[in-house]
Amino acid sequence: MAVSYDFEMERVLREIAEKKAERVLIQLPEGLRPRALGLMREVEERAGVEAYISGGSCYGGCDIALAEAEALGVDLIIHYGHSRLLPDGEVPVLYVELRADFDVDALLRRALPPLEGWRRVGLASTVQHVHLLPRAAEVLEGWGFEALLGGGGGWTPHDGQVLGCASSTALSIAEEVDGFLFIGGGRFHPLGLALATGREVVAADPYGGGATRIGEGEVRRLLRRRMAAIQRVREARRIGVVVSVKPGQRRIREAEELRGELERRGWEAAIIALDVVRADILNDFTELEAFIDTACPRIALDGLPELRRPMITLQEAYVMMGVVDWEEMMRRSYLGGSWRRP
Ligand code: SF4
Repeated sequence: MAVSYDFEMERVLREIAEKKAERVLIQLPEGLRPRALGLMREVEERAGVEAYISGGSCYGGCDIALAEAEALGVDLIIHYGHSRLLPDGEVPVLYVELRADFDVDALLRRALPPLEGWRRVGLASTVQHVHLLPRAAEVLEGWGFEALLGGGGGWTPHDGQVLGCASSTALSIAEEVDGFLFIGGGRFHPLGLALATGREVVAADPYGGGATRIGEGEVRRLLRRRMAAIQRVREARRIGVVVSVKPGQRRIREAEELRGELERRGWEAAIIALDVVRADILNDFTELEAFIDTACPRIALDGLPELRRPMITLQEAYVMMGVVDWEEMMRRSYLGGSWRRP
């Protein structure tokens, strides 16, 4: 299915002029890096600035290239692909959400068979496609469904928007719907949505063009793997508490608090600081028998395939220590306030 992106070049040029920027840093998610050179040239030629391309990770609005920007001495970061999560620091950031358009009616026709049996459907999407949700609701209502959209706010400012770690828009309507229709690419977000809400999710993917249902069975299997990981970490004696230095994933105070709690309960713990949390880096710390991830919770939940020891989230660590029970964590939602001590 053809998908077109809005790079909002006129807004970018206006922002560069308003900020009187002379040097800018362009940050793009991996999938759009094949277009980086053309974008850089257009920005340089039309704005008369010097533009740099960030080669670091760009996983979310949590992952702003502040360190690169400061090292390069740029006046503005142009961050593509995510909505704002963080207030501006030393270097201002322009967020270009990269709205992506496609034929939503055609995609919904393909999503119709897996929606069978539902009457009330919650709608959700990533920032790229949230603007298509009102049209999706209209189409569904025309077919006799009731379509619901949770109101935006906080980290997900748009109605129906979800992140891999934040589903509050969907949680606000989860009790009222038979399931969710997620519109967007891949299984990362719909799986998070199913885990956070406990509802089945039909994932309609404009990139692959298909629609599949994430059923209760898949979520149950994931939860069984999580319980097994918690048990394995409980049996370890030496634990690495992983801290990311990424601006929106940096939870140093929570990691210190966690290390203290682990040590009071008899575990030996060390805080490992990283930018990108990678299995090959963690595997080198052979004294450590397990890890607790205080960075993006999806790193532990989705797993690092090469990691040779178990890893759990911060929230799961409190279940592991017996501070809260499993049901309580589920009630608060797996991906709800998962960074705060319960
Ligand atoms: S899921 Fe992870 S990468 Fe995405 S916004 Fe949340 S912390 Fe950032």
